[in-house]
Amino acid sequence: MKIGVIGGGQLGRMLALAGTPLGMQFVFLDPASDACAAALGSHICADYNDYDHLQQLAQQVDLVTFEFENVPADTVAFLSQLVPVYPGAEALRIARDRLLEKTLFRQLGIPVAPFADIHSQADLEEAAKTLGLPAVLKTRTLGYDGKGQRVLRQPEDLQGAFAALGSVPCILETFVPFSGEVSLVAVRGRDGETRAYPLVHNTHTDGILRLSIASSDHPLQAQAEDYVNRVLEHLDYVGVLAFEFFEIDGGLKANEIAPRVHNSGHWTIEGAECSQFENHLRAITGLPLGDTRKVGESAMINFIGEVPDASVVLAEPSCHLHHYNKAFKAGRKVGHATLRCDSMDQLQQALQRMQQIV
Ligand code: AMP
Repeated sequence: MKIGVIGGGQLGRMLALAGTPLGMQFVFLDPASDACAAALGSHICADYNDYDHLQQLAQQVDLVTFEFENVPADTVAFLSQLVPVYPGAEALRIARDRLLEKTLFRQLGIPVAPFADIHSQADLEEAAKTLGLPAVLKTRTLGYDGKGQRVLRQPEDLQGAFAALGSVPCILETFVPFSGEVSLVAVRGRDGETRAYPLVHNTHTDGILRLSIASSDHPLQAQAEDYVNRVLEHLDYVGVLAFEFFEIDGGLKANEIAPRVHNSGHWTIEGAECSQFENHLRAITGLPLGDTRKVGESAMINFIGEVPDASVVLAEPSCHLHHYNKAFKAGRKVGHATLRCDSMDQLQQALQRMQQIV
């Protein structure tokens, strides 16, 4: 089975690492000549709207999936005419646009912070009066890792805020004074079967995910699964989807969905019976889904900007190192480590040791 992947970053690389033992082969389409997934398959170096190369990709593979959702809708439509595409065009259309995804959450009865559609500075000022401050202004598309958003705390912050984000369509949403952030990674097969991993506690630094800890018997697990299932069913979704929530007042408020394997699910490579990467591939190729249960206790630490020396990191006995072989650059995710232990106490101790060395 040959899988085409739109995007050739670390998520594509880890997909290939999971799919190779299943006999799968991979072709990545990515405009970057140094795409780090290229080491694990063939690489079509082309833009996401280069139709000649998209056609070439479709001719070479049995199906196409995505490790990157910010692709033009026309690209997805074009590919869908040539080859099966999972997840489908509608899931990508919604998930790449914050207004559409928040509107869907509301329609499906999933709690979400009040929000408004913003097309101008005047819209922003009007919405700020209705929603109140603090609030968060976010571009509708192309935002990631805290980029394309700003927190507006007082009336003076409104000035020039729409222009500062590039005068593009935005949403304004009320600031959620959350007690924590959690995400649920779930998978839905072609036959409609769904499975979910345990909820993960996430800590961000400067808008970038830094630490994920897989939970045990989280009191909001069933609630989160109910919400994710509503989205999966509505979109007739196939593959892995990640749902990020704010925890507040003992409940959940939806933040966003990612229609792909997700950084907060990297721990599943060593920490679950079947990883999110293998499960995504099983789902899109129509294979039986794998077991999403945890094996022991796990935490994942992202390496941002640079990867510490392997000899230092691997001195921690519970540590598994993933080096993406990407050029080091401030603010860029270039690797991660997963700590896997037999108990939560041991995991906390391992985390403390790691925090002293990274
Ligand atoms: P996002 O790109 O929407 O996931 O936002 C990145 C991070 O910004 C989130 O993980 C939160 O830590 C923070 N954030 C985003 N939206 C809000 C909000 N409405 N209220 C409080 N914090 C937020």
